Amino acid sequence: MKNEEKKEITIEKMVSFCKRRGFVFPSSEIYGGFAAVYDYGPMGVELKNNLERMWWKDMVQRREDVVGLDSAIFMHPTTWEASGHIDGFDDPQIDCRDCKTRMRADHMVEAFGINADKMTADEINKQIEKLEKEDKKLKCINCQSENLTPAKNFSLMVKSNLGSPTDKLSEENVVYLRPETCGGIYLNYKNVMDTGRVKLPFGIAQTGKAFRNEIIARQFIFRTREFEQMEMQYFLNPKEMDKKYEEWKETRWNWYLEYGIKEENIRWYKHEKLSHYAAQAYDIEYNFEALGGFKELEGIHQRGDWDLSQHSKFSGQKLEYRDPITEETFIPHIMETSAGLNRMVFAFLHDAYTEEDVDGETRVVLKLDKRIAPVKVAIFPLQKNKEELVEKAREIYKELSSHYMCEFDESGSIGKRYRRQDEIGTPYCITIDFETVEKDDSVTVRDRDTMKQERVKVKDLKQFFSQNL
Ligand code: ATP
Repeated sequence: MKNEEKKEITIEKMVSFCKRRGFVFPSSEIYGGFAAVYDYGPMGVELKNNLERMWWKDMVQRREDVVGLDSAIFMHPTTWEASGHIDGFDDPQIDCRDCKTRMRADHMVEAFGINADKMTADEINKQIEKLEKEDKKLKCINCQSENLTPAKNFSLMVKSNLGSPTDKLSEENVVYLRPETCGGIYLNYKNVMDTGRVKLPFGIAQTGKAFRNEIIARQFIFRTREFEQMEMQYFLNPKEMDKKYEEWKETRWNWYLEYGIKEENIRWYKHEKLSHYAAQAYDIEYNFEALGGFKELEGIHQRGDWDLSQHSKFSGQKLEYRDPITEETFIPHIMETSAGLNRMVFAFLHDAYTEEDVDGETRVVLKLDKRIAPVKVAIFPLQKNKEELVEKAREIYKELSSHYMCEFDESGSIGKRYRRQDEIGTPYCITIDFETVEKDDSVTVRDRDTMKQERVKVKDLKQFFSQNL
């Protein structure tokens, strides 16, 4: 008897599950760890790569109006002056004078029901004064002390040095690790245009690493200092903005549903306070129960002509577009879809994680969409000391693994092997038994979700999986 039940998901449960099953490991663990950086294990890297592949397929491969790019992480430092990151890419921070914990000041006042989105440190200090008049005091999240510094702005840019060797890090050769991937898209807009293969409206998409010196408090892979983004910048005539913006909002919303996110777990968040260049900004938020509720997963924002105008001004290059039909000349406006791949991994794990009561025992199963599951087929010889079973199982593994990510497992009871595959979300398990080798050359195929088993002829396996995976 199967009794499906979604149990509470806590951060401790997710962290320990992800480590135990090889999804996510803390960075540099043998040296005591390294804050807010994580590594992806054998299962995590598959899940992450699958999500990225699906995104690329839907955002680039299947679209006539979007092309791909892979720009470098290091860029000319003026890029970040032009984009406003050097002067204004800050988060407000508060430090605890007693235990030295550093905290996000905006998140601390938000705990009192204040919307602190995009507030500066000064604005937050005013809010804190108001709260104090009402006898409400901010407390350190670690030691509960009220002995806190005022809020101050803290740059999120990660600095490095490049160029001629220096004996110490000097200010001379400062470069920044990119805080977002879209910078490289703006700088290559002209190069892509000059290939002559695109005309407005069109998008440039890229995925890759980004770095931010984040102030973090126990958010696992939701907020890290090194992370991956999947961004698409869509260049258009401003007259088309509203129509295209609605189309892209719908496309991105449906993308999450297509890959199995439950609709009740996502919602729109409309930014009330906008950057000076933006006309509209919405985020898709996911209900990260382990983090206490809905939080940003992807931003879908209108950016006006700010980016190209700024880079044109700072570089002295013309970044205008001349419409071949109307002969109108203008700087294209941009709308972006900007998603975090690591947050996506977290959201999909979160959504798929299920605990079921099966005959009085708890079965943990990751109900991931088959396309993103790390392993598609697990192959088991019934007994590991029976050569003929192992040999046959290896033959099947060899054949299927050139088409799908497969796992060969011969250790422990079949029941235990099923449990392990359920926990990593493997849609199908194949067992090779004595009947296979002695009688009918068929195997047992077991379905992760229904737990039903059926016999399939070995010669029909390829066709079975091409229909079901
Ligand atoms: P937040 O408000 O959560 O700090 P943001 O608004 O600064 O995020 P954007 O600059 O819009 O984020 O970045 C686009 C996407 O990149 C986000 O929706 C998120 O999925 C991802 N992202 C941003 N910062 C981080 C981070 N530190 N760790 C992991 N993913 C991130």
